[in-house]
Amino acid sequence: MNTRRDFFQKLLGAGLGMYSLQIPETLRLLQSESLKSPGRKIIATWNNQKAVEAAWKVLSQNGSALDAVEAGARVPEADPEDTSVGYGGFPDRDGEVTLDACIMDHLGRSGSVMFVRNIKHVVSLARRVMEKTPHVYLAGEGAERFAESEGFPKENLLTEKARKAWEEWLIKAEYKPKINAERHDTIGILAQDHLKNLSGACTTSGMAFKMKGRVGDSPIIGSGLFVDNEVGAATGTGLGEAVNRKVGAFSIVEMIRQGMHPQKACRKAIERLCSIQDYGEFQVGYIALDHKGQIGAYSLRKGFQYIVVEEGKIKLFDSDYHFH
Ligand code: ASP
Repeated sequence: MNTRRDFFQKLLGAGLGMYSLQIPETLRLLQSESLKSPGRKIIATWNNQKAVEAAWKVLSQNGSALDAVEAGARVPEADPEDTSVGYGGFPDRDGEVTLDACIMDHLGRSGSVMFVRNIKHVVSLARRVMEKTPHVYLAGEGAERFAESEGFPKENLLTEKARKAWEEWLIKAEYKPKINAERHDTIGILAQDHLKNLSGACTTSGMAFKMKGRVGDSPIIGSGLFVDNEVGAATGTGLGEAVNRKVGAFSIVEMIRQGMHPQKACRKAIERLCSIQDYGEFQVGYIALDHKGQIGAYSLRKGFQYIVVEEGKIKLFDSDYHFH
């Protein structure tokens, strides 16, 4: 299902906790540059290695955290193999791919789009909403019209692979709002740049075979993403309904504000989810990065991975989790 993650799991073996990944030569050069001015950091959900490489390339050339998270999020959006983001994402139950994304910068500005069809780079569209409109959220047809006026190409986002998966699903058409952690590559990405500024982005095609119009947590500021430059940033992945009910990312940043380490804040936010009973075996994974550059991650169940870049080194981690 997920070739990139399968590849690394085979390569590295499961359950090791932390893995150092191979850095391509171009990034190695950028890494030695960046070591002259440390402090830059990236954390992203899942094994989104190519995404963090793209983000690191921006940071290591003194680019902004905002440019870095956008560059990172665009990578899975363009990847047809990634079935939970952008082009190649699994469609809703009517066979249509609909995307959600948001972005937030160090000035506390935010932009978000949801229920967007035929536009691949919704993270960039969310950034345009933030920078070019007086609004935070644009949805559906309005967001699509805005994309057109901004020159975003209209594309068919349904790949053959996703169409086949949908057709298989149609045979039983069982509607279960449940997210299997092993099969998700939705990206939430946080970065701190050389000026110590924080930004974050999140982009997804949402739950596979969802009801038409369903929106999860990923484009919801405060749930799927929150950034406060003085404090820290948080984002997540998993069952959006659960995250939305507890306003996940904002609650993590607020706990960091009160002096908690990002790791403990992520754990506490996951523990809060446990009062939700009615979704059965759902998964949620949170990641956080505070203004001091400290990171945290925690998930409800086994299987969540996150990826970190510091001083140019890329490391993949198995997250700690609540239910053992
Ligand atoms: N959080 C996303 C949603 O509920 C899905 C995911 O993380 O894969 O739409």
